[in-house]
Amino acid sequence: MRTRRLTIRILGLKIELKVVRMNAAASTPTSGLHVARWWEEIPDKKTHCYLCPRHCRIGEGQTGFCFIRKNIGGALYNLGYARPAAVQIDPIEKKPLNHFMPGTRVFSMGTAGCNMGCFFCQNWDISKSKSDQVRSAHLDPEGVVSEARRYQCPSLAFTYNEPTIWAEYVVDISKAAHQAGLKTVMVTNGYITREAFFDVYRHIDAANVDLKAFTEKFYARTTLTHLQPVLDTLKWLRHETSVWFELTNLMIPTLNDGEDETRQLCGWVLENLGDDVPLHFTAFHPDFKLRDQPPTPPETLHRARKIAFDMGLKFVYEGNIYSDGGNTICPVCKRTLVKRWWHEVSDVRISEDGRCQFCGAHIAGYFRRPGADVSRHD
Ligand code: SF4
Repeated sequence: MRTRRLTIRILGLKIELKVVRMNAAASTPTSGLHVARWWEEIPDKKTHCYLCPRHCRIGEGQTGFCFIRKNIGGALYNLGYARPAAVQIDPIEKKPLNHFMPGTRVFSMGTAGCNMGCFFCQNWDISKSKSDQVRSAHLDPEGVVSEARRYQCPSLAFTYNEPTIWAEYVVDISKAAHQAGLKTVMVTNGYITREAFFDVYRHIDAANVDLKAFTEKFYARTTLTHLQPVLDTLKWLRHETSVWFELTNLMIPTLNDGEDETRQLCGWVLENLGDDVPLHFTAFHPDFKLRDQPPTPPETLHRARKIAFDMGLKFVYEGNIYSDGGNTICPVCKRTLVKRWWHEVSDVRISEDGRCQFCGAHIAGYFRRPGADVSRHD
């Protein structure tokens, strides 16, 4: 294992990191590696990981489907712990979260690997990499929080790749973040087991969950997973936690953009999650294994947004295109409450207690100014 100091610049800001580069031989010893949670021993020195619905049975020396959970000597280790492969400061609107401290910056980070196999992945350079194939930095949970504070970010996001697979690191960072008065955000595919769900989400303040399609066929063929576990996660979030969450549906021409599918998705959201869960329809651009697909025409998002509004959803957005479909509109007086252009916010007309400043209607979400309170969970 070789280490060196690296200074990276983020929006003109300097962050000093210790870069760790491991080769195959050096990755075997367990010194410095973090023992995973959510696994059990099974015969023949194999481990059963039950963090996500894949339930990988992992032989000695092997990793699970996500690449970063490895069986070493009969015990499971999380190779992504304290080793972010991407660190950046983003607008909160980029996650996307439109009802959670709008207009603020979020300290964002991801590691290598993923538990889904999406053919359209837009971060495939890290999500499809093994932990020893990416250049990663050593950053312990306290170090993450102190960097976020140094750059005056009121929240931290676990994003870019799937944070469920490095949940041990997520939990430890979140504990430190809450002690420092910062909020925590999961940007997730929602593919997690009930056995692990509450252990993780009791430390999370907000989430954006991808609802990538509303057919099992799409999930099975294009993401190599299943739809039902994601729907289960969304119901747990709504009915068994106080986590604020929003949904993202990336619309890919011919694969998941049919009007009937959009209606079924919206109907399920209304029936199971309620009418005030924000839904983001976002545009696909050709990437990874779907480079032969055309980008999503803006008209597809306009049509989907209209369907969702007509069916009764109160907060529906368009993303990855330039349009006024990113604005937050009061469902009662129809005035514009948050004006956005791409991820830029130019005006917020929602009070800290979540009221329309024109008509007083309740607007679901979390609109406190940064630092207004500490944590609802810890
Ligand atoms: S988290 Fe990774 S190792 Fe564990 S079950 Fe899911 S894909 Fe497999």
